[in-house]
Amino acid sequence: MCGIYGVSGANNAVDQIIRGLFCLQHRGHESAGFAVWNNQMNHIKTQKRVGFVSHLREKIDSAQFPGETGIGHVRYGTIGGTGLRNAQPLVKEIFGSQMAIAHNGDLVRGYLNGDWLSIGELREELQRQGVVFDTTADTELIFSLIARSDKIDVIDKILDTLNRIAGAFSLLILWNGFLIAAKDPWGFRPLCFGKANSSYTFASENCAFSHTGVEFVKNLAPGEVIIVTPDGEINTYQLNQKGVISPCSFEFVYLSRPDSNIFDVSVSSARKALGRATALEMNHYNLLPLDALVIPVLDSGRTTALSFAQILNHLRLLDNLNKQTIENAIDGEFPFDFGLNRNQYSARNFITPGQKAREADVDLKHNPDSAIVAGRKIIKVDDSIVRATTATRHVALLRKAGATEVHVAIASPRIVDVCHYGVDIKHPEELIAANHSLEETKQIIGADSLYHLSLLGYQQALREVGLKSFCDACFSRNYPLAPF
Ligand code: 5GP
Ligand code: MG
Repeated sequence: MCGIYGVSGANNAVDQIIRGLFCLQHRGHESAGFAVWNNQMNHIKTQKRVGFVSHLREKIDSAQFPGETGIGHVRYGTIGGTGLRNAQPLVKEIFGSQMAIAHNGDLVRGYLNGDWLSIGELREELQRQGVVFDTTADTELIFSLIARSDKIDVIDKILDTLNRIAGAFSLLILWNGFLIAAKDPWGFRPLCFGKANSSYTFASENCAFSHTGVEFVKNLAPGEVIIVTPDGEINTYQLNQKGVISPCSFEFVYLSRPDSNIFDVSVSSARKALGRATALEMNHYNLLPLDALVIPVLDSGRTTALSFAQILNHLRLLDNLNKQTIENAIDGEFPFDFGLNRNQYSARNFITPGQKAREADVDLKHNPDSAIVAGRKIIKVDDSIVRATTATRHVALLRKAGATEVHVAIASPRIVDVCHYGVDIKHPEELIAANHSLEETKQIIGADSLYHLSLLGYQQALREVGLKSFCDACFSRNYPLAPF
């Protein structure tokens, strides 16, 4: 997963890109970088750094990077990620100028010499033909395909290439003062378009707009390409391939910021719907302890946990003839509290290599507050379980802090398989749900009970908030684009 941001016609593109990337920091913190087009000097200047956007910002003086048009990228590393080498934007000399690309998503296939090839085959074939790659990123293949296109005009070569790749791509391309934004025909990853005075902006999420004074215009449609010319003219194209419309629903579960609107749906509304659906299902199956206290897992679980607690509270009121429940609950209490405190300065621990180190990271990041949890029955609400590191540590920490019972509720289904479209869930052997039953998982994490929102409940909750068609392959194995 990554974040991208681009602007055309800004006073100081770099300054705006860095502020935009800062708002997209949650989409990746392995590296941050930008590429800016300088019209007078007729070239692209780039800067990339390993680590946070603030690190990049400290290291540069934006006056040293004059230019009105540019793109930026924050990268989410996989385990053993290769640091600066794969940092984006990637820049190459091509057709007497330079081209920079920033990419969010994973490509699945590419078309070469009359055949669709898997990305691995495509890389091998290009290498056999003598192409030397600088990175291991699929993004680099796009340059080679553009260079091979038999169209005359460079913009046509780019459009031709976008029709010859399949998979997840929200892309920003900078060439000779042109800024090109494209979304794959399946519409896997978010990308939105905004405007301020005479400048045009693109970002993975619109939470990056208001801080940079940009007005949201729209989310790009699947297969939509918007080209901003050096003179500030806008041209729009539609890519040829037809895909099943498949926006990534995990963006709503975890990846996007709650204050964003992606795929024309508010992320916080979707999270609230998921939290409500989870509580209602648990109640339906008589698995919801009405006298428990809801503890959100900050930050990603906070919105879902709140709506979960609202339902629990409502059910308590309906149940107030049940004396036992009322006695066990604290009088008049809204059943929600911050029982797991989060260290503000901890980053996301998910990508730390090594299980022991990840566990230690969770302990550093979340600390239980015994004043809140001691002697209480707890329902810990989180957005997802991947390897179960977080849930296992949390249950142990809450018990140590004196919780009498720890129930775990997860507002999404079990992640049973990998993602081919850009989420770093790549290794089935690491996925707890791919290797263990629900009961086994409950025992592994040491909880009194474990509940996951059902796949049907998940789909229905997302439809209720207006998402008509989406990808849920990591939960359902229903892959909209087969990886071969
Ligand atoms: P686990 O600890 O089970 O491996 O991961 C689940 C926890 O990590 C949840 O709290 C969830 O919010 C978070 N999480 C889920 N998916 C991802 C991801 O792709 N990246 C990161 N950094 N965290 C994730
Ligand atoms: Mg989390």
